Amino acid sequence: TALPVVIIGAGPAGLMVANLLQRADVPCVVLERGTREYIETRPRAGMLEDRSARMLERHGLADRMLTESDTHTACEFRIDGKAHELNYSELSDGKTHFVYPQQEVVTDLLRQYLDGGGDIRFEVSDVELQDQLEETPSVSWTSSDGTREQLDCSFIAGCDGFHGVTRKSIPAGAVKEFTHQHGIGWLSILAEAPPSTEKVIYALHADGFAGHMLRSSTVSRFYLQVPVGEDVDNWPDEKVWSELHKRLALRDSDWTLTEGKIIEKRVLDMRSHVVEPMRYGRLYLLGDAAHIITPMGGKGMNLALNDAEVFADAIASYYHHKSTTGLDDYSAVCLRRVWRAQEFSQWMVDLVHRNEQPFLSRLGHARLQHLIQSREAAASFAHMYVGAN
Ligand code: FAD
Repeated sequence: TALPVVIIGAGPAGLMVANLLQRADVPCVVLERGTREYIETRPRAGMLEDRSARMLERHGLADRMLTESDTHTACEFRIDGKAHELNYSELSDGKTHFVYPQQEVVTDLLRQYLDGGGDIRFEVSDVELQDQLEETPSVSWTSSDGTREQLDCSFIAGCDGFHGVTRKSIPAGAVKEFTHQHGIGWLSILAEAPPSTEKVIYALHADGFAGHMLRSSTVSRFYLQVPVGEDVDNWPDEKVWSELHKRLALRDSDWTLTEGKIIEKRVLDMRSHVVEPMRYGRLYLLGDAAHIITPMGGKGMNLALNDAEVFADAIASYYHHKSTTGLDDYSAVCLRRVWRAQEFSQWMVDLVHRNEQPFLSRLGHARLQHLIQSREAAASFAHMYVGAN
């Protein structure tokens, strides 16, 4: 019998691969460090691009998403208290975002995989990849009852996020790593507050960027630009709200921001990281294990889902037709999209943040004016933002 693919990590990347391999009759086992409850309740991303939503639909994985998500067609740039709406759907042949929190995507993917008889082990620890990653890979781990287990496999899908074990198992120097610090910090806030807007707001204020993102009818995510390395203790809840009120304020309007209980507050260091190639021998890296990107532009989860589809297709061709073309091309195909997304995210970071260097701040301002005034510039933004490509 064919050896299974071992998938390490049950985030969007790992569970998407698991479902697609299951549909393609390729044996696989998922190893996850957390509990089922942990992965089903971990709030992170919230926006599915049009192409990700279509991908879920194509594979019969979108039922609940399509009935329960909100679609979004426009965003707002709020510059010094004045609102500028950009209807990106109109500029991209009617494509939309689907606002559907990441934990719901994970919950749906997990349920589908289990309903299909899928094999997933929760609460595993000390996952180790054996040395022979090029020829005969094998993975060992300690299961939740304390037993040490080992499994020989055909391939390993490293879907264990940026801090996982798979990328670190690649011998030093075997892959190139590209890192960029954007020199910006974000205070990321999740609040039990109904949205105060129907569209995502990117606000530019003299004191820094503020973002109002949508999650559900009862929960909203907010971002505040803060200095790099800022201590979250400097931001008691009252200060968070007063800063959000100030930076999101709209001139000559009765618009107000609805407050709520803050349920998560942490400082994100805005950085990017890409590994090339996204494989070593029979270990393939997917999603955040291979690349992280700033949350600006909402690309991270979407890239993870894209990697998963490219990888699963390649594996299915290998299992059923002995074709290695897809596996050989995997890294190059994924990296094209990854670098394009990195470029877009960096461009958006420069667009809406106050830069310490006045010259660069002026450039950002000029770019934003161009985006607002030029239909061509707005259309180009729209395609990339909504994932129409
Ligand atoms: P993960 O979701 O990180 O999953 C990895 C899994 O592996 C986890 O379940 C973890 O428990 C498990 N694991 C880790 N180590 C091990 C181990 N050693 N053994 C076994 N299991 C292990 N993206 C967007 O597209 N849009 C957004 O709006 C957006 N907003 C974001 C906001 C925030 C605040 C953050 C932090 C991220 C945001 N992202 C966004 C990015 C997005 O959440 C990630 O890109 C996405 O989670 C990547 O999925 P993944 O499956 O690669 O990794």
